[in-house]
Amino acid sequence: MKLPCLEGCGQCCLNPEVDASTLEMIPIALKIFDDGKLEEWLTKLDGPTQDHCLFYVRGNEPWQGQCGIYQERPALCRMFGVGGYMNKEREVTLSICKYISQKYPAETLAAKEKAKTEKAPVFAIWTSLVSNLGTPDLNQRLPINEALKRALHKISLLAQYENL
Ligand code: SF4
Ligand code: SF4
Repeated sequence: MKLPCLEGCGQCCLNPEVDASTLEMIPIALKIFDDGKLEEWLTKLDGPTQDHCLFYVRGNEPWQGQCGIYQERPALCRMFGVGGYMNKEREVTLSICKYISQKYPAETLAAKEKAKTEKAPVFAIWTSLVSNLGTPDLNQRLPINEALKRALHKISLLAQYENL
């Protein structure tokens, strides 16, 4: 059963509450460093505040857009749309984006039923698994642009030590 995003849609990326850990942003921070764009990005992040993710690439319509770092996007972005969470009864419940559920109401109901008997990916569990790789400092959840900034500063510091 498929519950795809609306074609061309990128509305969730405009949500200023998208968060990530510094650890999750290390892969894209390394790529930025390898591409020689570290200073450019630090300047961008220190510029006028933008409340949504700086990697968002807007489309022609206000609701259209896409991720500029799809391969390196953090965990929340990988699971948002159709992800699981534990309800008060400790059952896995699916959280499905309102645009997807409006477009595919029957499939949404079926997926929610299926989630009761089959294991759906639960965001909190995957976040916890990822956090096993980091320290409390690296695992702290921050607004995504702030997490990127911290990841870039850490890479920059490491690079300076390597050059000593
Ligand atoms: S990293 Fe990509 S998917 Fe996540 S909020 Fe930014 S643009 Fe959207
Ligand atoms: S999860 Fe929802 S808001 Fe986000 S891109 Fe998919 S359809 Fe659009």
